[in-house]
Amino acid sequence: MKVLVYAESWNGSFKKSTFEAIHYAAEVAKLMNAETVALSISGTEDHAQLGQYGAQIIKTIENAALETFDNQTYAEAIIAVADEMGADTIIISNTNNGKAIAPLVAAKRKAALISNVIELPESISPFTIKRKTFSSKAIAKYQTHSDKKVITITANAFGYAEGDSSASVESFDFTPQETTPSLTSLSVDSATGKIGLTEADLVVSAGRGLKGPENWGMVEELADALGAATACSKPVSDIGWRPHSEHVGQTGIAINPQLYIAVGISGAIQHLAGVNASKNIVVINTDPDAPFFKAADYGIVGDAFEVLPKLISAIKSHKASI
Ligand SMILES: Cc1cc2nc3c(=O)[nH]c(=O)nc-3n(C[C@H](O)[C@H](O)[C@H](O)COP(=O)(O)OP(=O)(O)OC[C@H]3O[C@@H](n4cnc5c(N)ncnc54)[C@H](O)[C@@H]3O)c2cc1C
Repeated sequence: MKVLVYAESWNGSFKKSTFEAIHYAAEVAKLMNAETVALSISGTEDHAQLGQYGAQIIKTIENAALETFDNQTYAEAIIAVADEMGADTIIISNTNNGKAIAPLVAAKRKAALISNVIELPESISPFTIKRKTFSSKAIAKYQTHSDKKVITITANAFGYAEGDSSASVESFDFTPQETTPSLTSLSVDSATGKIGLTEADLVVSAGRGLKGPENWGMVEELADALGAATACSKPVSDIGWRPHSEHVGQTGIAINPQLYIAVGISGAIQHLAGVNASKNIVVINTDPDAPFFKAADYGIVGDAFEVLPKLISAIKSHKASI
């Protein structure tokens, strides 16, 4: 028996969420007494590193037709490998690309699709597992009797550990059936040199309480001091104070870092929908009745313009002392 995991990469590097998905797949495979097969499509040269996270066999597909992401072609490739390896359980990261691939793979294989999974299965027979639902405000338990399953893993929910095991790397011969993909990516303009929000462990976020874009220097300084990504509330990106790529919440990016620091954000339900899965939430707000404090692990009732400089200075002197 085999468990297949799709090893997503970006610009020639595997993502942190990929290591997490592989580690998760390896743990599921142990429960099923199965082997873990990782599939890398037009990825990095360093496929072997996937073995450190628990993959036993690594299948690689290098094909010019797959250099640009197309969910239909990628789904076709994953299915081809799953069919050849006899893998009924397929694990995919719950990233934007993963969310575009997983339903196609599930529909074409007539498999049960369980998305946003946060834990190992409670039982493998029948297969019972927990997933996040309602914009991460609730956790639901699902059960399937289907042999074929596609599971997507929420980033930062499971974690990963680097081991010293190794894997065999084998190339897989795949030619897409559809010669013309339904959608072609022409160009990608990405924010360079920044920590990606969905992958970030630490996020410093600010809202309208910052008064204007000219005050973001201290938010960026705090983020730099911590090695954190920056985010913002929706109105802040709507007004154009910050780029839309930083907008978190129900209509923005959903994140689940280890630490989320919210500065001058009221904590409206639509904002919380995208950040309440964060492991630790710190709120800095002048209004002691701001709704965000109810969702916070730590709160500072204070003016961001006084609190942030002190916080930055304390973090810098702490870093200098170690
Ligand atoms: C359909 C829909 C979808 C939405 N989706 C999203 C979404 O995805 N993400 C999102 O963020 N919002 C979303 N919103 C908007 C949301 O309802 C709120 O309006 C928004 O989150 C408020 O942004 P804010 O907290 O930055 O601003 P405000 O609500 O104006 O809050 C500013 C906060 O800053 C505090 N403050 C003021 N001065 C200071 C200071 N000097 N120091 C410290 N604190 C200070 C204030 O006490 C206040 O709590 C959505 C709304 C709708 C209707």
